[in-house]
Amino acid sequence: MRLVLLGPPGAGKGTQAGVLKEKLGIPHISTGDMLREAVKEKTEAGLTVKSYMDKGDLVPDELVTRIVAERVVKNDAKNGFLLDGFPRNTKQGRELEDKMRSLGIGLDAVLYFNTKEETVIERLTGRRVCTVCGMIFHIKNMPPKVEGICDACDGKLIQREDDKIETIKNRIRIYTEKTEPLLAFYKEKGLLKEVSGDLDVDSLFKELMDLFKRERLIQQG
Ligand code: AMP
Repeated sequence: MRLVLLGPPGAGKGTQAGVLKEKLGIPHISTGDMLREAVKEKTEAGLTVKSYMDKGDLVPDELVTRIVAERVVKNDAKNGFLLDGFPRNTKQGRELEDKMRSLGIGLDAVLYFNTKEETVIERLTGRRVCTVCGMIFHIKNMPPKVEGICDACDGKLIQREDDKIETIKNRIRIYTEKTEPLLAFYKEKGLLKEVSGDLDVDSLFKELMDLFKRERLIQQG
């Protein structure tokens, strides 16, 4: 199954993808995670993108499109992928379409996580991320067993630089301006499927499973 997860920052795309990848046996391809990794590793791409990311601005299209094009052809993505954080504007949407057409594949659905702004702000300000394995926590909704420590690997939890309130506001503005036009882009292609990003993790997962069954993307039962 080839899916795009679309929605504002903090809609729960990364959290759901973390569960769905196990359930569906396909990789979670997050451009945000790949770019953060590049920043951490101080690669050339990482050095270029850091200042954009810290401000919550989009990094240059060419760079992120190249990263995605190289990732979707890897062996583990042969049977499908969950694309999270890409495309972020219609130019990237068209480039993804071209790339997939050249590979003779297509998207099965674009999952739109429709989410209220207040939910987004509450989630992002409380979000904590493991510096080692990337697992996501929330100080209220999904607290770690030991404060500041990852349940999975004992790594240190931090607040992402771009999860500070001023940066969050910029990210929401950019989402509205640049990313929201993709809703019409995919709706026109009959690919857009809406779920509620306001739901808690388990309810949203169930909504997604119901949707996959209804759309016959997975087997009933
Ligand atoms: P995310 O983890 O998806 O919220 O992404 C974190 C940051 O990475 C964004 O605020 C952007 O600076 C950058 N980023 C991630 N994906 C893209 C993309 N498709 N196009 C441009 N910038 C991106």
